[in-house]
Amino acid sequence: MDMNTIEAVVPTTDPAQWRDGDAWLAGGTVLFSYGSYAFGPQPLKRLLDLGAAGWEPVAVTDDGIELAATCTIAGLYSLPGSPDVAGRAWPGLDLVRPCCDSFVASFKVWNMSTVGGNLCTSLPAGPVISLCAGLDGVATILGPGGTSRTVPVADFVTGDATNCLAPGELLRSVYLPASALASRAAFRRLSLSNLGRSGVLLIGRLDGGTSLVLTVTAATKRPVQLRFDGIPDADELAASLDESIPGDLYHDDIHGLPAWRRDMTFRLAEEIRSELAAPQGAPGLTVSGDFWPPQARHNALSKGA
Ligand SMILES: Cc1cc2nc3c(=O)[nH]c(=O)nc-3n(C[C@H](O)[C@H](O)[C@H](O)COP(=O)(O)OP(=O)(O)OC[C@H]3O[C@@H](n4cnc5c(N)ncnc54)[C@H](O)[C@@H]3O)c2cc1C
Repeated sequence: MDMNTIEAVVPTTDPAQWRDGDAWLAGGTVLFSYGSYAFGPQPLKRLLDLGAAGWEPVAVTDDGIELAATCTIAGLYSLPGSPDVAGRAWPGLDLVRPCCDSFVASFKVWNMSTVGGNLCTSLPAGPVISLCAGLDGVATILGPGGTSRTVPVADFVTGDATNCLAPGELLRSVYLPASALASRAAFRRLSLSNLGRSGVLLIGRLDGGTSLVLTVTAATKRPVQLRFDGIPDADELAASLDESIPGDLYHDDIHGLPAWRRDMTFRLAEEIRSELAAPQGAPGLTVSGDFWPPQARHNALSKGA
């Protein structure tokens, strides 16, 4: 879409330069598809272009992984899986590719859109939101007055297309701590249609090998995280879900009715609980989901889907 209200494109990463009528420009896949009038009462006048930020897309240390806001989905996908990020045993990395594969993305979106753009768009089905919330990611946010603050990704998104950013604030990066990356993890996703947008996406982790952390996304308007001291039984888990997610927090759009999202949340949560309660690699689990195998993705992408 032409953004014919734009008067200037300013290459900068300095929030002090932000003024009314500005938007940060990352991959542009939302800005150029929604248009100038979709981001507030007034049309956009300037784009503050992060394209020349030069931030290292992925920085790995023993303490964890820092993803720059400008890291693309393709860049995220190319992170090697467990157990080999420079020899570290981080099974949580097994979540990266299923989350990226949950993106209903064309070749352009896959290669241009960014970690930060996905978080800041704050759609319930944002797969980077699922990944980063599920791995206890912490967002670093820069403010116009030279300030910096951190927010857990699970709290960054506050509702359907809303988040905690104040006008002019810039999402700089997301930090994934080694403690979460070192946990055994389980992933479940459902969509109403083949290659459709996520209707329900749940991630479970076994912290310290003993404590279940369950993150519900896509089904709900914002991420919901449940933490248990150990592994609850099925009834405890269902009761916690019931208590933590009121009916009106389930998302309602063409990709799934709230009642379906709720039923599937309970079902997938129980699958995750059973999987993580069993010894690793135990046979006999029934797995829901329509996980899009990478080869199918690449076939589709090579056709420009
Ligand atoms: C065909 C298609 C399929 C899509 N499928 C999905 C999908 O399955 N799931 C999904 O979640 N989205 C989907 N999207 C929406 C979108 O592409 C993604 O959310 C993408 O990750 C946005 O990233 P971007 O870098 O292109 O953002 P941009 O378009 O550059 O920016 C999006 C918004 O975020 C703000 N922003 C960007 N970066 C920052 C930052 N660092 N700090 C502060 N604000 C910032 C911008 O100002 C703007 O308001 C799809 C879009 C298309 C066109």
